Amino acid sequence: MSSSSASGSQDTPDIVVIGGGIVGISCALFLQRDGRRVTVIDPAEPGSRDQTSFGNAGSISSSSVLPTAMPGIYKKLPGMLMDPTGPLAIQWRYLPRLTPFLLSFLRYSSRANAENSGRAIASVIHRVAAAYQILLDETGTRDLVVRNGALKVFKTDESFATSSFERQLLEQNDCRFDVLNEDELRQLEPSLQPIFKHAIFMPDSQTAVNPGAMVRRFAEHFVAKGGKIVRAEARDVRFVDGVPRTVVTTAGEFDAETIVLAAGAWSRDMARKLGASVLLEAERGYHIMLPKPPVMPKRFITFADRKFATLPHEDGLRVTTGVEYAKVDAPPDYRRIRGMLPFAKESFRDLDTTEQSIWLGRRPTLPNSVPVIGRSPRHNNVLLAFGHSHLGLTMGPATGQIIADLAADRDPGLDLTPYRADR
Ligand SMILES: Cc1cc2nc3c(=O)[nH]c(=O)nc-3n(C[C@H](O)[C@H](O)[C@H](O)COP(=O)(O)OP(=O)(O)OC[C@H]3O[C@@H](n4cnc5c(N)ncnc54)[C@H](O)[C@@H]3O)c2cc1C
Repeated sequence: MSSSSASGSQDTPDIVVIGGGIVGISCALFLQRDGRRVTVIDPAEPGSRDQTSFGNAGSISSSSVLPTAMPGIYKKLPGMLMDPTGPLAIQWRYLPRLTPFLLSFLRYSSRANAENSGRAIASVIHRVAAAYQILLDETGTRDLVVRNGALKVFKTDESFATSSFERQLLEQNDCRFDVLNEDELRQLEPSLQPIFKHAIFMPDSQTAVNPGAMVRRFAEHFVAKGGKIVRAEARDVRFVDGVPRTVVTTAGEFDAETIVLAAGAWSRDMARKLGASVLLEAERGYHIMLPKPPVMPKRFITFADRKFATLPHEDGLRVTTGVEYAKVDAPPDYRRIRGMLPFAKESFRDLDTTEQSIWLGRRPTLPNSVPVIGRSPRHNNVLLAFGHSHLGLTMGPATGQIIADLAADRDPGLDLTPYRADR
């Protein structure tokens, strides 16, 4: 490992990216395409189990525009506190620290605010397909993504009726979807048991069949093209004349003209040092890997009645689950995900629910589910890219493209006001 100097030699990075998950690596790739010398700092191997980008449900969504803070959510808060295994849960001992986040979350759950959040999410989502195409083509990773759309399935008329606000948001934001009846669903997705009365099909969504491998291959391409990845943790920043110029890490100090912060759920402390105070929390979520069922589903599926989702992963069926607010590094509570297995079993034909592996991840989340993408409010040479919540895998490449535009002083073609840290 070489510590860089401010001399501007060939080894000196123009840009240091803190964090090498899907967001950080996508930023690094788009910056590198612009001819920038980029160093990524991360204690974890890109694509490894330590990253949220490894264990998600693989949906590259064209349609997940519903923020978690949606109208009526306040009615669910007591239940969140009472049932640690429910689809939305809060660990009691974490409540005092979570209170400012929750108050802001409740404010954002008004209808008008939720519509604004949906609009901001959709504006990034509309850029996702084009940004992904560039990275998949250039890194030779097309084989890891299938374009079969995505499904949300409902067992009852009542549960389908609860999706009316979501469907309204999809319409308002020009996200294509079809409503399917029982027969249409059976024809489209024969892996499912015939217990679902309604479905929403989002034809433009894609599915990453091995998100960890995809991030790893993105990172390998970045290194093959001359990028550097340093296995270290960023701990601090040094300033020259009030401008952040050096990232202090566990493996030395790195000078840079520009610093990009993309450390996922761990971004809050570094963000504060870099001039941005944010209410960032970890919406923790779990997965279990099961053996491949005899009929593998063709796409990502969300099960509305029980709030779990499945990914047809290269290595088996991945079952993922809801939201747990707890300290980012608190021990896992696997009851939540194991409790979903009976529902997964009743949903798929001949599903073997023998647990192959189990995992906990942390979605980096702001109260309105809208990521921070843009300049630090205090420092022009600091670019922030975190807080992508349920949609980091989806939005990573589009975020990388915007960050590269900002680093090059190009117009990203998007009003970045909703994504400001000081929103
Ligand atoms: C169960 C589950 C299912 C999900 N399903 C989907 C889905 O289907 N579609 C979708 O779009 N999204 C999904 N998500 C969300 C998505 O996985 C995340 O939004 C995304 O992975 C966040 O990416 P990231 O790069 O910001 O964070 P991460 O992948 O967590 O990467 C952050 C990196 O920063 C590093 N880091 C932390 N602190 C420091 C430091 N001080 N110095 C240097 N490096 C540091 C970490 O080691 C880590 O490698 C899901 C999440 C979960 C938990």
